[in-house]
Amino acid sequence: MRKLATIRRISSVEPIEGADLIEAIRVDGWQCVARKGEFKVADLCVFFEVDSFLPIEERYEFLRKSSYKKVDGNVNDTRSEGFRLKTVRLRKTLSQGLAMPLRAFGGLLGAYQLGDDLTEVLNIEKYEPAIHASLSGIAKGAFPGFIKKTDEERIQNLPQYFKLYKDMGFEVTEKLDGSSMTVYLNDGEFGVCSRNLDLLEDESNTFWKMARELELERILKSTGCNLALQGELVGEGIQKNPLKIKGHRFYLFNIWDMGQKRHLTTWERKVMYQDYFATLFHVPVIAEKEMVFETLPTMKAMLEYAIGPSLIGKHVQREGVVFKSTEMVGNEVLSFKAISNNYLLKHGE
Ligand code: AMP
Ligand code: MN
Repeated sequence: MRKLATIRRISSVEPIEGADLIEAIRVDGWQCVARKGEFKVADLCVFFEVDSFLPIEERYEFLRKSSYKKVDGNVNDTRSEGFRLKTVRLRKTLSQGLAMPLRAFGGLLGAYQLGDDLTEVLNIEKYEPAIHASLSGIAKGAFPGFIKKTDEERIQNLPQYFKLYKDMGFEVTEKLDGSSMTVYLNDGEFGVCSRNLDLLEDESNTFWKMARELELERILKSTGCNLALQGELVGEGIQKNPLKIKGHRFYLFNIWDMGQKRHLTTWERKVMYQDYFATLFHVPVIAEKEMVFETLPTMKAMLEYAIGPSLIGKHVQREGVVFKSTEMVGNEVLSFKAISNNYLLKHGE
């Protein structure tokens, strides 16, 4: 599970022009707004990322007016109401996430220190909009342990990368705002998964329908390997269909190799794609190999780069970009995402 709440250090506190009650603070790569005087530089705080869905508790009540949200069928399926944190502009200042002083948690955090993950301790969930029954499907089981789930860390949480990976080449692809889909063939067993579940085959399920339509079982068998295809299902009824696609489409973005327990590199994926999967859509490739931290040396440059038109939808903004290292780091491809702040402000995440 992604870390949504962590103990972090305030790195700067700046006034906001024309605002008497609030100021802008920075925590790693994030900027958010806090009550004036709440923090000074180097203070510790509990930082909640955008997408956090906080429980109804007294200490968060100040969020009620701006952030209270009731959901039917939250995919995590435990919380039906709470406070949802999204990207906003306050006094023209971008604010993402929430920083709260440790004292707001009484003795609860006594044993914790800088860097600790509090997501579970504080019972924070990821906010996910309700999804249609044709998408959710019926579980055959948990997501298979022999495949890595799709997920990308946000660049704002990885400020150390700017130094560490200066000399690394990255493939840059457009990030599509749909629903994650994984299709696998493992020792002859064919399966279709949503982001968190292995799904029972069912004619009314959109993931399975797509897998059958694309003949993915036959195609995977023809490779003679144990592989999983990972991509984004987009189209009608998925998120708000921002790309305005008719029907549904599957866009491949990764291939997981069960034998090697890792993703294929950009190059390996390209070769496989040409040989076996050329009938599928692939997410748009913005750059095949870019020395990203050389051309985008600051967080600001990185976040500005994420903004741009989609290469799929006409006259629509892209959600952002995903970077994948062209060489392996250890035994895996290194990857992360940069989301367009314009997109977040428009689509209200
Ligand atoms: P998020 O949607 O913010 O949770 O970001 C991670 C998800 O982005 C992954 O789980 C994928 O489902 C999705 N995604 C969309 N486009 C891409 C892409 N080009 N490369 C990798 N992941 C992608
Ligand atoms: Mn998404």
